[in-house]
Amino acid sequence: MLIRGVLSQNTSDVNSGRAYDSLREKFATWEDLAGAAPKDIAGAIRSGGLADQKAATIKCILDWLSSRDGYSLDFLRQLDSEEVEARLTAIKGVGVKTARLVLLFGFGRPVFVVDTHVLRVSKRLGLIPARCTREKAHVLLDDLVPDERKYSGHLNMIEHGRRTCLARSPDCPGCPVRRWCLYVRGTFE
Ligand code: SF4
Repeated sequence: MLIRGVLSQNTSDVNSGRAYDSLREKFATWEDLAGAAPKDIAGAIRSGGLADQKAATIKCILDWLSSRDGYSLDFLRQLDSEEVEARLTAIKGVGVKTARLVLLFGFGRPVFVVDTHVLRVSKRLGLIPARCTREKAHVLLDDLVPDERKYSGHLNMIEHGRRTCLARSPDCPGCPVRRWCLYVRGTFE
């Protein structure tokens, strides 16, 4: 999940999925990956973009985990979510979104994760200010969304952003939440 999160930065799900599959095909075990040269890792994940940068981050992650059995993140389960997020974001190249993907999907913790779709939809609906950064959006939406809705809310907003509230041509006439939307009312700034 952590490496999938790194590979998902600034690219589509299709491309990051391809990069992950290619990485696991080339390096069968985490030990193989930990021993690989950054240029070989970058070669395996080229389809996901920013390959050199992401390869360096993957190396940092595996170096950090090298003393852990099987390169496992299980030791983090005993820590609270803020501490896990702090430990993961201390790794060069790992951002809040990636750390929270591990918390939400890996550990089942109630944290809200903001990707590019969630950020756009939240702004258009007026849930967060139009000029809000993604970092700030994580804090605001974490407060706003009840814990029991954080998982479904994340997935549903992504789905809405992909199917209806597209970046360039949102389908506002067919949108089920248009009555709450600032963007369609023209009051979005
Ligand atoms: S009304 Fe349009 S801009 Fe507003 S949430 Fe729906 S699709 Fe997005």
